[in-house]
Amino acid sequence: MHTFVRPSTFTLEDVDRKLKAAKFALPTTQQFTPPDSSSEDGSSPETDYFPEIPSDEVRPLEQCIAIFEKGPRPVSASLALLNDEEIIQLANAGKIAAYALEKLLGMDALERAVRIRRALISRASSTKTLESSTIPLENYDYSRVLGACCENVVGYIPIPLGIAGPLTVDGVSYPIPMATAEGTLVASASRGCKALNAGGGVSTVLTADGMTRGPAIDFPSVVQAGKAKAWIDSEEGHGVLQRAFESTSRFAKLKSLKTALAGRTLYIRFTTTTGDAMGMNMISKGTEKALDALQKRFPEMVVLALSGNYCTDKKPAAINWIEGRGKSVVAEAVIPGHVVKNVLKTTVEDLCNLNIKKNLIGSAMAGSIGGFNAHAANILTAIFLATGQDPAQNVESSMCMTLMEPTNGGEDLLMSVNMPCIEVGTVGGGTVLAPQQGCLEMLGIKGAHPTQPGKNAQTLARIIASAVMAGELSLMSALAAGHLIRAHMTHNRSQVNTPAASAPVTPGPQSNPVLAQLSRSAKAAFSPLTPLSPSMSSTSLNRLRK
Ligand code: ADP
Repeated sequence: MHTFVRPSTFTLEDVDRKLKAAKFALPTTQQFTPPDSSSEDGSSPETDYFPEIPSDEVRPLEQCIAIFEKGPRPVSASLALLNDEEIIQLANAGKIAAYALEKLLGMDALERAVRIRRALISRASSTKTLESSTIPLENYDYSRVLGACCENVVGYIPIPLGIAGPLTVDGVSYPIPMATAEGTLVASASRGCKALNAGGGVSTVLTADGMTRGPAIDFPSVVQAGKAKAWIDSEEGHGVLQRAFESTSRFAKLKSLKTALAGRTLYIRFTTTTGDAMGMNMISKGTEKALDALQKRFPEMVVLALSGNYCTDKKPAAINWIEGRGKSVVAEAVIPGHVVKNVLKTTVEDLCNLNIKKNLIGSAMAGSIGGFNAHAANILTAIFLATGQDPAQNVESSMCMTLMEPTNGGEDLLMSVNMPCIEVGTVGGGTVLAPQQGCLEMLGIKGAHPTQPGKNAQTLARIIASAVMAGELSLMSALAAGHLIRAHMTHNRSQVNTPAASAPVTPGPQSNPVLAQLSRSAKAAFSPLTPLSPSMSSTSLNRLRK
C-alpha cells in the first residue's frame, strides 16, 4: 500500500506558498509540471504545482499521482484537489485501495468516498449497473456507519417501515415499528394488536436476562481438562474468573459459568448482564479477560476459539431454548370471547384446537426446537430491522412457544407466548444509525436508560414478545377461520407487482363466482378493525409465511 512520505526537501510551507501563488498565477492544468523522476535526490522540483480547486478535466495519471503523493497533508487535502474521475484513476492504478477511501478522503467527504467506491466497483463488474443504479447513496449519515456497522459501503438499502398497533404492553400503549417487504404482515399484526387491546392488552414477565459466550479450550489430557473444570466450578475458581470478567465493563455482571467436557476440550458458557447493549462485544471482552486468568492457573491450556458454539450465537441450539439467551420473556393476555368471534371471526375452541395440533403437536412431529409457534420470526425480524438489532440473531430470538387455552368457563381465550432468547439492545450495533434510533425514540427507549441500565433493552424485549403475540393471534385466527387458504386462492399474487411477462395461467378470481364470494369473506375478516387498502387487498395473504 502507498505510504505518504514527503521528500525531505519538500515542506508544507512550500506547498502553501505554491498554492497561493498558483491561485493567482496559473490556470489549472496547463502549467503543471510533473515531478522530475530523474532528479538526483528524488525530491520534488521547484515547479511542482497543486491546484486548489479540482478541475472538471481528467488530468494525466502522473499529474494526479504527483498531487496525491506530494500535495498538502493530511492526504485528504491533496485528494480534495482531485476530481472523482482522477481519484478513480489513482485507485485503478493501485495507488488507493477502494476500502480505504473514507480514511483517505476524510470525515468531511464520506459521501464522496461512497460515490467513488460505487463507481470503481460498478466499472469492474460485468453488468456495470451499480454506479447508476436505484440503490440510494445520498442523504445518509455515513459517519455512524464508519468503523461500526459496515465496510466497503456503496449506499444503503431502504426497507418499508410500517407501524402496527398501537399495542398496550404492561399498561403502556406502543406503536410497533416493523420494517418489512412482506405484504399483509403489518396489517395482520395490527389486527392482532386491536384484539389484544380489547382485552386490556398484554402483561409481560422478564424471567431472565443474560447474554452468553462459550469458548472452546483444549488441554493436553482429559485429566487436566477435568481439573480445570472442577476449579472453575469451585467457589475459588468462579471468584477468580468473575473478578477478571467484571473488570472489563461496569455493565457486565457475571451470572453463571456452565462447564462441559468433550474429550480433552473444555467448554465454558459465560452468562452475563450487559446493560442496554445486546452485549456480544461486551461479553467477548469479559470472556477474554477471564480466560487470561484461567491460563495463569492452567498454563498448558490452549484457547481454540472465544466462541466454541457453546454460546450459541446465530445457530439453532437446544441450550438456548432450555437455558435462555438474552432476554427471556413470558407474555400473557386474555382475549374476550366476543372479540374472538366478531373481530377474529373464529371461536375460542377452534383456536385452541388449532394451536395444539399445529404449534404443539405439528412442531413436535417435525422435531422442532423452539419452533412451537406460527410465525414469531415474522414479527420479531421486522421489529429487529426497524430498531437496529442484529437480524442474524433472529435464529434463536424467534424461538417461541405459543399457548392457548379457554378461560372464564370457556368464554374467553387465555393466550401466552414464551420467548427465552430475545437478543436485543438499545445501545451499540445498528442502534447507532439515525433511522433505527428514530424507531427506538418513538418507543421511548433510545440509548441507555438514564437510571436503570438494561431497562430500555428489557422493555424492547417485552414489546417484541407482545407484538409477536399479536401476530400469532391474527395468523392463527385467519388459519382457524380458513381465511388464509381462501384468500390465497382468491387473491394470489399482487398483479401490480407481478412482472408483465408472467401472465396468469389459471383463471382469475373474477371468472369464478365461488372464489369471488370467498374473496369478499376474506376481506371481511380484516375489515372491522383494519381496513385494507386496494393495493393491500390484492396482495396475497399467503405471503405471511408460517
Ligand atoms: P454490544 O456489546 O452489544 O456489541 P457495544 O459494545 O457496541 O455493544 O456497545 C456497548 C458499549 O456501550 C459499551 O462500551 C458500554 O460501556 C457502553 N454503554 C453505555 N451505556 C450503556 C448501557 N446502559 N448499557 C450497556 N452499555 C452501555
